[in-house]
Amino acid sequence: MNADYIRENLLQIRERIAAAARRAGRREEEVTLIGVSKTRPATDIRSAFDAGIVHFGENRVQEWEGKRGELVNLAGRWHLIGHLQSNKAARAARMFHSVDSVDDVSLAERLDRARAEANSSEKLRVLIEVHIGGEESKSGSPILALPALGTRILELPNLNLAGLMCIPPFFEDIQQVRPFFQKLRELRDGLQKELDWELPVLSMGMSHDFEVAIEEGATEVRVGTALFGARETN
Ligand SMILES: *Cc1c(COP(=O)(O)O)cnc(C)c1O
Repeated sequence: MNADYIRENLLQIRERIAAAARRAGRREEEVTLIGVSKTRPATDIRSAFDAGIVHFGENRVQEWEGKRGELVNLAGRWHLIGHLQSNKAARAARMFHSVDSVDDVSLAERLDRARAEANSSEKLRVLIEVHIGGEESKSGSPILALPALGTRILELPNLNLAGLMCIPPFFEDIQQVRPFFQKLRELRDGLQKELDWELPVLSMGMSHDFEVAIEEGATEVRVGTALFGARETN
């Protein structure tokens, strides 16, 4: 049964999160686990929820549109973690609690307008995705554009800027990714001062490197494969 498999994986991930937090002198409650459920059926999301996961990350608006109908009674928190095209911003602003991949001003403005039209009682939480290095990733705000983007988001009444997110390059040797996580934390610290606005969230770390991310200050880790098993696509 997938449910048992997911539950067992979750226990191991939680232990690894706790151990990494201890090594860094942090508490495990400071780290939120986001179950990355892209390509997974709604039944797997339900199993993970029943096992104790509340936050889920999807990377495609369309895919989530197809699944959410089966999960309407589930009190999960839904995050969009993938690159968002501006023509899908309105749908995303209605369907997610958080967009963790905002990377430019016009996208932020579209999300803000759409959230207002959706008459939600809650602001849309957003993270700025930072292009932290590496050629393979095309998404993310350039580092130099962060102050202007952050300043603009703070002016938008229906968005709540909570922090930064990154997808660093992939390394076989996970120690090589550490400087990228350190860099995101430093950028957060700097932007926080510059904007005079608390940015408590650092979303960084995936299945193969979330422990290093936690040692470097991650408050949200996005874990797919280690929880649900290997994906066929994506
Ligand atoms: C797929 C994905 C993840 C999870 O990756 P795993 O290696 O399966 O844990 C995390 N973040 C983003 C943005 C993703 O697209």
